[in-house]
Amino acid sequence: MSYVDEVMERVIAKNPSEKEFHQAVKEVLDSLRIVIEKNEEKFRKNAVLERITEPERVVSFRVPWVDDNGQVQVNRGFRVQFSSAIGPYKGGLRFHPSVNQGIIKFLGFEQIFKNSLTGLPIGGGKGGSDFDPKGKSDREVMAFCQSFMTELYKYIGKDTDVPAGDIGVGGREIGFLYGQYKRITGLYEGVLTGKGLTYGGSLTRTEATGYGLVYITEEMLKANGKELAGKTVVISGSGNVAIYAAQKAMQLGAKVVSMSDSNGYVYDPEGIDLDLVKEIKEVRRGRIKEYAEAKASAQYTEGKGVWTIPCDVALPCATQNELDLEDAKTLKANGCFAVAEGANMPSTREATDFFLENDMLFMPGKAANAGGVATSALEMSQNSQRMSWTFEEVDSKLHQIMIDIFKKVDEASKKYDLEKNYVAGANIAGFEKVVDAMNAQGIV
Ligand code: NDP
Repeated sequence: MSYVDEVMERVIAKNPSEKEFHQAVKEVLDSLRIVIEKNEEKFRKNAVLERITEPERVVSFRVPWVDDNGQVQVNRGFRVQFSSAIGPYKGGLRFHPSVNQGIIKFLGFEQIFKNSLTGLPIGGGKGGSDFDPKGKSDREVMAFCQSFMTELYKYIGKDTDVPAGDIGVGGREIGFLYGQYKRITGLYEGVLTGKGLTYGGSLTRTEATGYGLVYITEEMLKANGKELAGKTVVISGSGNVAIYAAQKAMQLGAKVVSMSDSNGYVYDPEGIDLDLVKEIKEVRRGRIKEYAEAKASAQYTEGKGVWTIPCDVALPCATQNELDLEDAKTLKANGCFAVAEGANMPSTREATDFFLENDMLFMPGKAANAGGVATSALEMSQNSQRMSWTFEEVDSKLHQIMIDIFKKVDEASKKYDLEKNYVAGANIAGFEKVVDAMNAQGIV
């Protein structure tokens, strides 16, 4: 049996019921076959794949808090510190009822390669809780965040592990978490990114993942003789990534016709009114169906189905496995020629394979959404220097980072005669740097 297959079997046996983690590891290891097979004995002897698929540390903890009725609630918190080969652990916190150890491990594993692709010195980590901020009062969210940080603070620090936001963790949650960290430790340090602008946050961080997604999409299109201007774009989700992807796509001349949430999707053939989406989602914390109630040209449909809307370019920006094989076939049949992932692993493996086998341009999340963590690393730099860069400075660094990521991914795919397979390109380019650093540091 090949070394890759052996390790894959072991990963499944050692981590039963962590299906998202298996899916992420399998995708990466399958892409790496071509690299591993060239030097299989060396990789096997050094147990490189066993080490890279085993987190350096997993912390799981109880998070008790009191709700507005005086009832004590108990959630489970996680922090997975996956790899510190190229820098301090870096990766977001997710608050969503679906969170479990397998989901946090898949996200932490992906983060290793994503962070490597940014070219910045950041290792891979991820955390979160099965707490659902939806429908909770600000006081309840604060109580939860304070309890969560009362345990988490023991494991993080500006030079060890720097969490950020993800699903369910935005500016409000980062503020409460930061306040509690500072109160417990007495340290005013850049231990979290995504902070508010008045207490160490970086301009452009809010926009970074969505903007970065569109910058790299434009690079991919340009390299293939196309451009975003004049194209119709379908976006799923209506959170942080989706909103700013829509904004940048519109700035580049595309027409965005949809947004969604976990209840349903809106289709607005006139083009999405982003101010209205922001008012509903960022100010009122409402549901996307309110968009269709406020705008006559829009139509709301309950449930899944956003990928049935005809488009040229699709940007999945909600959550993992939200786009399956049937969706991929529908997109293709309706004329879609490019897909770039704002979310982490939104396409199932079958959908990804379909895109690659049917000559669609496809940029995987670990490259396409790396602008968020890259800008977080820029926030860390500004905090260390006690400086603040302008919006334009950060935006132009972000833009350059995304151009560089596209180049690395493209070159890695060409190096192994896998031209236009950006999945393989991203996995290989991310892996090579991490392995080089691991080898240099001995058996750790
Ligand atoms: P937000 O919480 O701001 O928004 C998430 C959006 O996705 C909401 O519209 C939400 O709808 C929808 N969604 C979440 N879970 C589901 C589900 N199970 N089914 C359908 N829709 C769902 O999160 P972000 O925008 O920050 O994150 C979106 C994706 O981007 C995630 O995969 C995240 O890991 C990834 N990402 C985020 C980065 C960042 O900087 N924020 C960086 C890199 C990747 P609802 O309100 O109904 O839950």
